[in-house]
Amino acid sequence: MLTTASYFVFYWVGEFNKAITLFGAVWTLLILFASYRLIKKSKTAPLFPQKIGKRVVLSVIALISFIFIYLNLSSLQSSFYKNRLETQHFIFYSSKNDDSLDKLADLLEQNYGRITDAIQVKLPAKTKVTVFPNPMNFIYSIGQFSNFWSLGVFGEDALYIVSPKYRPSMFQSTVHEFTHVVLSHVDSKRPTWLEEGVANYFGKTDLNALNVLPPLVSAGKIPGFDELDGSAFVYRNGYPYSYTIVEFLAAKYGYEKLNDFIRHPEDWDRIFGVSKAELHDLWVGYLRENYGSKMVRAK
Ligand SMILES: [Zn+2]
Repeated sequence: MLTTASYFVFYWVGEFNKAITLFGAVWTLLILFASYRLIKKSKTAPLFPQKIGKRVVLSVIALISFIFIYLNLSSLQSSFYKNRLETQHFIFYSSKNDDSLDKLADLLEQNYGRITDAIQVKLPAKTKVTVFPNPMNFIYSIGQFSNFWSLGVFGEDALYIVSPKYRPSMFQSTVHEFTHVVLSHVDSKRPTWLEEGVANYFGKTDLNALNVLPPLVSAGKIPGFDELDGSAFVYRNGYPYSYTIVEFLAAKYGYEKLNDFIRHPEDWDRIFGVSKAELHDLWVGYLRENYGSKMVRAK
């Protein structure tokens, strides 16, 4: 019954994040009611032999339920975006007055032309940026329970982010996420390192590569391209490494070839005139030269 009801709610609201919070709020009340009934009925059951135990259990359930109800309602409230700010290429939505939005809008507009030109994509619509006041509202509203560390999610014409007011690094991270929006209009099957590398390179989020990589490069801990694809990406320092691969490709081969490669990620030989293994060797050489030690780049 609840599942069917949720479909109706989803259909009615038409927006996933609103629907999920609405559904959560209803669901929590039902759980609370059901728990209460269960406990009332179990008067003589051995489950709660003492009266005091029953009261404690009921209080704990009530407390947990109210926390959930609070989270649901505050997320729900944050998904009814009261504030709307429209610029040339973006529309921003936020629930609370957020004075970081003007700066964020300026930053995105400043980078819009550079990134769409570089990746040679014309976006058909304005990008809708939904800004959540804190990570809890974000995670709850987007349903990102599986990756708590992610504070931004993108679609083809949408971005969902935690406010830079809460976390200042979100300013630059949003430019990174916007690069993913642009990339999502390029139809090709890209390995993780290429997708993230391009977002890092054009989004200017190098994730501290100059400090993170030198000890790894000196120790010869340099991953193969295939090791930077899929779920192992994050654990193999994929973010900073992917930045350097794309930086290397852009510096050595230029944007035209980089764009060709983004569109045909299997055509190593045709585009770069070398095999995958040879290109990896060239990149390793670039790494040793530019990220081998902190001294080299400190000139
Ligand atoms: Zn990314």
